[in-house]
Amino acid sequence: MVLLFDIDGTLLQSHGVGRRAVEHSLQAHFGRPFDTQSVPFSGKTDPQIFREILSDPDIAGDLDLDLDVAVRQACEAYARRMHATWDEATVDALPGAVELVEQLGARGEPLGLLTGNLEPMAHLKVGRIGLGEAFAFGAYGSDREARNELPLVALERARGLFERPLAAEDLVLIGDTPRDVEAAQAVGAKSVAVATGRYDMDALNQTGATVVLETLEAFSLDALA
Ligand SMILES: [Mg+2]
Repeated sequence: MVLLFDIDGTLLQSHGVGRRAVEHSLQAHFGRPFDTQSVPFSGKTDPQIFREILSDPDIAGDLDLDLDVAVRQACEAYARRMHATWDEATVDALPGAVELVEQLGARGEPLGLLTGNLEPMAHLKVGRIGLGEAFAFGAYGSDREARNELPLVALERARGLFERPLAAEDLVLIGDTPRDVEAAQAVGAKSVAVATGRYDMDALNQTGATVVLETLEAFSLDALA
């Protein structure tokens, strides 16, 4: 089994710092304010979030731009803003998250990240809750814009790293949104949905996740065997 953790809403929460950095970086880049409240971010990759914002005329207006270029530039501006402001952000580890990752690591379980964050943001975020060295590898929003494609990126990297035959069924995605579960289902991986983000137990129970938990304090490897 290879355990792949989502970050936001699963391991930690950062109280809107991401959305503020998105809006700030867009304003800095395009020279006018962007109100992104109508776009949910949960479970999406960073490039996907920027593409949705920049292609919505109600938010972005009539921008005459090459969308692919604009998404790339917006991601770069966002990364700069996050690096500049992250140290002052309020960040809280979610219940059981740090303890669980440390326990699994101590048991020698293969641990990775599977997150919509750009890779440098992912490292910045988990480092903040003391888990900077806990994950051997990851698949990130900077690898693929579509979250459903990230499990196969992770699988490829895990095969190289752990030098043993692994199949998609050996992956377990641990995340807080229906999109995390969908990404697992897209390749036949298992999934643990945890209700510490924007989705409650009822919503997550409808996803068909292998296991649904109130918090990571209730996580058990036996439930995945
Ligand atoms: Mg999440």
